[in-house]
Amino acid sequence: AYVIAQPCVDVKDKACVDECPVDCIYEGKRSLYINPNECVDCGACEPVCPTEAIFYEDDLPAQWEWYKDAAIEFFAEV
Ligand code: SF4
Repeated sequence: AYVIAQPCVDVKDKACVDECPVDCIYEGKRSLYINPNECVDCGACEPVCPTEAIFYEDDLPAQWEWYKDAAIEFFAEV
């Protein structure tokens, strides 16, 4: 799945939401989150993010690895 990392925090531009063909990007308190169970890995969201916050899970910078777990936790709570 694709993952939204730190650059989204307190920005939440939402350009990605309009691009996602399966509507799997949801709004949290300070960031947007991609539901890893619904994401079809199309990659459409990644280039439209103005803050370059979106990465394929295997391409996440090391310091943002934990955003993968943050997304899993976010969707476990809802
Ligand atoms: Fe949606 Fe595609 Fe981005 Fe996954 S990769 S969140 S399916 S736009």
